[in-house]
Amino acid sequence: MTDTYLSYDQLHALLTGVLRAGGYNAAHAAAIAHTMTQAERDQCRSHGIYRLAGVLKSRRAGLATGEKAPVIHDAADRPITKIDAGGEFAPLASAQGLPLLAAKARRYGLAALAINHCLHLAALWPEVEALAHQGLGALAMCPSNAYVAPAGGIRKLFGTNPLAFGWPTGDDRPYVFDFATSVIARGEIELYRLDNKPLPDGWGIDRDGQPSNDAAAVLDGGALLPFGGYKGSAIATMIELLAAVWIGDLLSSESSEADGGRGLAPLHGELIIAIDLTAFGAGDYESHSRILLDAIREQGARLPSQRRYAARASAATRGIPISADNLAKLRRMEKGELDVELY
Ligand code: NDP
Repeated sequence: MTDTYLSYDQLHALLTGVLRAGGYNAAHAAAIAHTMTQAERDQCRSHGIYRLAGVLKSRRAGLATGEKAPVIHDAADRPITKIDAGGEFAPLASAQGLPLLAAKARRYGLAALAINHCLHLAALWPEVEALAHQGLGALAMCPSNAYVAPAGGIRKLFGTNPLAFGWPTGDDRPYVFDFATSVIARGEIELYRLDNKPLPDGWGIDRDGQPSNDAAAVLDGGALLPFGGYKGSAIATMIELLAAVWIGDLLSSESSEADGGRGLAPLHGELIIAIDLTAFGAGDYESHSRILLDAIREQGARLPSQRRYAARASAATRGIPISADNLAKLRRMEKGELDVELY
């Protein structure tokens, strides 16, 4: 079916309407819809409309109320801010916390924001990119549910633990990367299972800890593997230590335990660190950074986010593509005529 093209505001309003119909109040619906609309605009579809079902089901299951306001614990004289998301989805807490984090990074040179007790299904690049657009370096990370075994281990322990980094470059395309620390996203393994295709070597192990090319065996009792062997395993461990232990929140294994096999959105914390790039007295950090980034491109290598920025540019002229089928379903969901299970 052919695509329809919507403006950012049109898609955001539609998704906000669907979330309102699903029980989210105006503030939560608008914040969650922004993360999904940004993902659709940049063609990061795994974190766009696709995530609606998880968000709506979590509300229906009573995991999120869709109404609780985040509670900010701002240590006014320290470079630390904590926000208790109250078991709701993270975007509203994040939207409220980022301005506080940015102000503290400017004041102290380095600042950290912990979002505690949040449901998390979002990509992390919107947060680090927003900070980079304000001239700040940024790191963001979070656990998820336990799906990934440590390198050399035999059973799942880590989440797919995403890590994102942003760095301003003086134009509207900061250097940004954002990826899971598993060798591949869990959703990809699902697709292999649906297509009945063997997994490439090195993606997963079965319930006995043996290497497996069987997607079902990896998903049912087995585990994904970290990217880069022991190196990815160590980075996933660091994320559990910083974005769970340090901020006083759940490890991926504890988030899974709390879920109790229901398969709802992971409930844990997120850590965002912002950096004032003038803190050590560096001169023109933007030109200095560009020497490196230009040298990467001159070799024919592409920078992370290059594909995303191209998609965004296309959306700015043509609009955001959405299939006619999905558009019709979303409009019915907005009116409460279509159940999320059908979407
Ligand atoms: P990818 O493996 O596709 O890697 C994505 C990153 O790598 C992007 O920054 C991408 O840029 C860049 N990239 C991809 N290909 C290249 C290339 N050839 N050269 C240079 N850079 C490249 O993503 P993942 O599947 O690991 O993660 C996808 C998303 O899932 C992330 O946004 C992550 O935050 C999210 N996630 C969220 C979780 C959660 O619990 N909330 C859990 C796990 C993942 P570009 O976008 O331009 O292609």
